[in-house]
Amino acid sequence: MEQHKIQICDECKSEFNKESSEMEKLCPECSSILYGYKNCEHVIKGKRCIKCYWNEKSSEYIEQLKK
Ligand SMILES: [Zn+2]
Ligand SMILES: [Zn+2]
Repeated sequence: MEQHKIQICDECKSEFNKESSEMEKLCPECSSILYGYKNCEHVIKGKRCIKCYWNEKSSEYIEQLKK
């Protein structure tokens, strides 16, 4: 993963690949839950999604919204 494409999500604090998200400051997971943008179809390998680089850990706020 190239470093300049890595962004930190404002909500869940995970690194993510900004080319994979519709939003500059949110990972695809958070932007989909908070704003209805298209989520990444995550492919988790090890501790991260190999497509968007999200670390699979949502913030507590996001976890509550998912319920
Ligand atoms: Zn996030
Ligand atoms: Zn993903």
